[in-house]
Amino acid sequence: MWNHINAPLKEKVDILAKNPYRFYIGQNVWAHRNSRQKILEDYLNEAIALEDFELCQKIKEVKTFLSFVNNHKTKRDYVFILETEETMWDVEVRYYLKKEDNLLKLYKTNDTNEEFHNCDASLEINDYLSKKDVIELLENHFEKWREFYGLPRFRTEGLIDEKEFYTMVDSIKEKRDHYINKAKELKTPFIDFLEKANLDPIPNGKNEYQWLAKCPYSKGKHHMMVSTKNNTYGCGWCKKKGNQRDLENYFKEGN
Ligand SMILES: [Zn+2]
Repeated sequence: MWNHINAPLKEKVDILAKNPYRFYIGQNVWAHRNSRQKILEDYLNEAIALEDFELCQKIKEVKTFLSFVNNHKTKRDYVFILETEETMWDVEVRYYLKKEDNLLKLYKTNDTNEEFHNCDASLEINDYLSKKDVIELLENHFEKWREFYGLPRFRTEGLIDEKEFYTMVDSIKEKRDHYINKAKELKTPFIDFLEKANLDPIPNGKNEYQWLAKCPYSKGKHHMMVSTKNNTYGCGWCKKKGNQRDLENYFKEGN
C-alpha cells in the first residue's frame, strides 16, 4: 500500500517499474498511470542531486519502459534491460526491448558486433505490462539457449538488476534439476540400449522425457535428441529419426 512512501528512492522506482494501478505518493493519496512520467522526472532530479548516476540510469530505463506501456511520448525507441557475460564465448551481451508498433521486441548486441540481433521474442503492449513480464521473457530466452550457450553471468544493471537476474538464473537451474531427476526416474530400456551402444545418453533438463545422446550417424560429432515418451530419437543435422529397431538395423549394417 503506502508503506514505501518513506522508502529509499530505488525501492520506489522498482515499484513503479511493476506498473501498479495505484502508486501511493502519500497516505491514501495515489497516482494514476498517466502521472508516472512526472513522478519519475522528480525522482530523476532527486537522484541527480544525490549524484547517484547508476540510479539516474535506472530511472531513465523505467521512464522509457513506462512511456511505451502507457503511450507517452519518448525520444528513445528502446529500453536497456541489462548486460550479461556469456560464459561460453566470453563476450558481453546487452539486452534491449525495442518498440515496434504494438510490440516490445527483445534484441541483443555484443561487443564484437554492435548491431541489434532479433531474439525472436516479444511482449504485446497493454496497460498491465510490467517488469515482471520482461523478467519472464528474458528467463524463457536464457532457458531456451542454456543448452547451447550455458547460463550467462551478470555484468551491468538496466531495467533489471543483479538480484532479479540471479533469481531468474536460480529458477532456471531449479527447473533443470527437477527435470533431470524426473527423467532419470522415468528412464526406459531404450536409454539402457543407448548406454550399451556407448552413445552416452544424458537428460537435458527441458522436460521429464528429453535426453541427448551422441549421434551415431555422425560418429558422435554432435548430439541427437532422444525422447522416452515414445522411445524415439531424432537428429536435425543428419535428418534421421527412428526407434531402437532402426538403430539396431543401422548397427547391423556394420556402422
Ligand atoms: Zn546427426
